[in-house]
Amino acid sequence: MVSLLKGLLDYRKLENQTLYAVVAALLLGALAPQAAEFLKPIGDAFLRLLKAIAVPLVMASIFVSIVSLGSLRELKELGLKALLYYASTTFLAVLTGLVVVNLFFGLTGAPELEAKPAADFEPKEVSLSDFFVSFFPDNVFAALAEGKVIQIIVFTLLFALGVLAIANERAKGTVVSFFSGVNDALLKMAGWIIKLTPVGVFAIVYYTVAVHGFEAFLELWKYALAVVVGLLWHATVNLGLIGYLFGRFRPWEYFAKVREAVLVAFSTASSSATLPVSLEVAQKKAGIDRRVAGFVLPLGATVNMDGTALYEAVAAMFVASVYGIELSLEQQLIILITATLAAIGAAGIPSAGLVTMTLVFTAVGLPLEGIALILAVDRFLDMLRTAVNVWGDLVGAKIIDRLMGKKAAKTPSGAVEN
Ligand code: ASP
Repeated sequence: MVSLLKGLLDYRKLENQTLYAVVAALLLGALAPQAAEFLKPIGDAFLRLLKAIAVPLVMASIFVSIVSLGSLRELKELGLKALLYYASTTFLAVLTGLVVVNLFFGLTGAPELEAKPAADFEPKEVSLSDFFVSFFPDNVFAALAEGKVIQIIVFTLLFALGVLAIANERAKGTVVSFFSGVNDALLKMAGWIIKLTPVGVFAIVYYTVAVHGFEAFLELWKYALAVVVGLLWHATVNLGLIGYLFGRFRPWEYFAKVREAVLVAFSTASSSATLPVSLEVAQKKAGIDRRVAGFVLPLGATVNMDGTALYEAVAAMFVASVYGIELSLEQQLIILITATLAAIGAAGIPSAGLVTMTLVFTAVGLPLEGIALILAVDRFLDMLRTAVNVWGDLVGAKIIDRLMGKKAAKTPSGAVEN
């Protein structure tokens, strides 16, 4: 812990520069917001660069990871471990959210707020069947162009299995080395873009604070505080303990290595845009096997969202209490399940959780307009929950790396080892 604090003072380190940039932007954006429009294009350009490599990187890294596992048995093992980790931690996150919100509003009662529909938000109902079908691509190029990450993952899984099943070894080798090369080149590009993070995150955070301001918190502070307390508890206590017990690592030491990714997640509010950074730090700084990182992180960036799940549960309970609706234990159980599903279905982009929240609201019969109540503080909570989402992915990668550990490594033909 002391070494982490000491490490924070070393201004030559990129991850420290990024941290200073975030803190400075939070302060300056609030106190002197005049430069917002000037800084916006800088932040936008940085975000675009990250997003530009994120989609091809999802495809290439999952593909390379699967073909380098060597056997179907290992793929099954890795996949099952990842899914078990995602499901259990997401569930735990929602549970934490429910406990926190019950403590908060159970003790102090619901705040008095006027339920007013917001002009800029049209809630759309999401049915479970639409949700299920949305996992399957009907046109992979459309999915790539539109950045539909879950569909890209489903296609890539099948494609990688198809390539592994090819009898012609030469053809197989050509496809594998092509994607390995693409993957390596994208990671190199990620490394370059990451050098720009202090500047990029400064611009993004400054602009966000300058535009959104902090006033909205005055009315909604109790709700925001419940979300923040829940998120902090989950990130430190729950995930920390899970990492310590199953991954045998000290969470704060690991955090010190990968914090660049968590800071980028906080600044961009997008797990997908953060993916290039997470992949880079997990492999280069934390030494996680690239087959594990290449599979667990891209998949996690879109299906494993602990922060989003927790926030959805708190938001549903909060809106219910504002409308004076008592939610029974059974209804809270429904929230537990639907918030988990809604988080899995949320894309790794800003505000995605707000959209899938309609699934939770519909399931327990809450008025969809209620979502408008919490819009004012959503961007900040989005930043925090995205940081927790990405931290959850990174903890998972580390644990699974240990559990898969020391298995015979097989590098795909033509792959360049990092
Ligand atoms: N912005 C979040 C993410 O990218 C999703 C959400 O809106 O909760 O992880």
